[in-house]
Amino acid sequence: KRIITTEAMEEDIRTDYSLRPQTLKEYIGQEKAKENLKVYIEAAKGRGESLDHVLFYGPPGLGKTTLAGIIANEMGVHMKVTSGPAIEKPGEIAAILNNLSEGDVLFVDEIHRLNRQVEEVLYPAMEDFAIDIVIGKGASARSIRLDLPHFTLIGATTRAGLLTAPLRDRFGVVHHLEFYTEEELQTIVERSAQVLGVEIEPAGAMELARRSRGTPRLANRLLKRVRDFAQVKYDGKITKEIADFALDLLEVDRYGLDQTDRRILNTMIEKFTGGPVGLDTLAAAIGEDAGTIEDVYEPYLIKRGFINRTPRGRVVTELGYHHLGVVPKGEPVV
Ligand code: ADP
Repeated sequence: KRIITTEAMEEDIRTDYSLRPQTLKEYIGQEKAKENLKVYIEAAKGRGESLDHVLFYGPPGLGKTTLAGIIANEMGVHMKVTSGPAIEKPGEIAAILNNLSEGDVLFVDEIHRLNRQVEEVLYPAMEDFAIDIVIGKGASARSIRLDLPHFTLIGATTRAGLLTAPLRDRFGVVHHLEFYTEEELQTIVERSAQVLGVEIEPAGAMELARRSRGTPRLANRLLKRVRDFAQVKYDGKITKEIADFALDLLEVDRYGLDQTDRRILNTMIEKFTGGPVGLDTLAAAIGEDAGTIEDVYEPYLIKRGFINRTPRGRVVTELGYHHLGVVPKGEPVV
């Protein structure tokens, strides 16, 4: 099992709750989203209304769920959590909506995976706070309109382009979550260490930040792994040396790349002379799902400047070659 995956793992869930910031003030980074949300929350509260529907998109582990929880918290309402694949029938979403209280937040993770019929229930629900229910069959069938409480739908997805246009258009607020800077991640690591009661030196926190691929979920996971090393092999304090030692053992490199990232780069170089190569071809060559490459691995490799997307496919950059110690003709650097 890859430690570097940005998807939530069993081991994250145990500490997730305590490590999750509860207020906008505690939430580190994403300044633009935070600034806007602060204004919208204050305005909605001032008018005594529910907040407009919000869509967050960006790679997994960047804090979409956390931010939804904070919005509910700051609005002083409850949040109901569900996900696209969990709702199978129109009746299920109708029941969820009908059970909300005035002002509540409904958080739908992986909202792009809702099926068509379920999505169609959401259109009038989001727009008019009502759902249409069909009673009876055939000629005697009639539709009645059921009013819903005013609620806020918060959707999360990896890419906004995965949503259908009618669904995307119904969100008043749309925010792209960005990868975090090393400094922001260092602050997150230090805060998490405090919550977990672990002693950590600033240089140790920085090393963890550097190797967490801009992702808080990973930063917290690596912190917990490194803590174990510090506890068993040393006196429990995380120094830069211990962080380096443990992360090298975990095969997370200086830039936060792991075996799969390196395999992607290597395959592009060795089998496709550095590209351009199409996503599906690349996926088949390394035996990974194309969607996973596009949503999980590639954004960070692009962000670090190791690969580029061109109209003809993905290409390895000079920096990418350099990182693997290969010169752009495919010969190893001596
Ligand atoms: P997503 O929903 O985008 O996959 P989550 O909201 O589940 O991501 O975030 C993963 C973990 O990262 C959370 O449990 C939380 O501890 C941490 N986290 C995310 N964003 C922040 C942040 N801005 N500040 C501090 N911790 C954060």
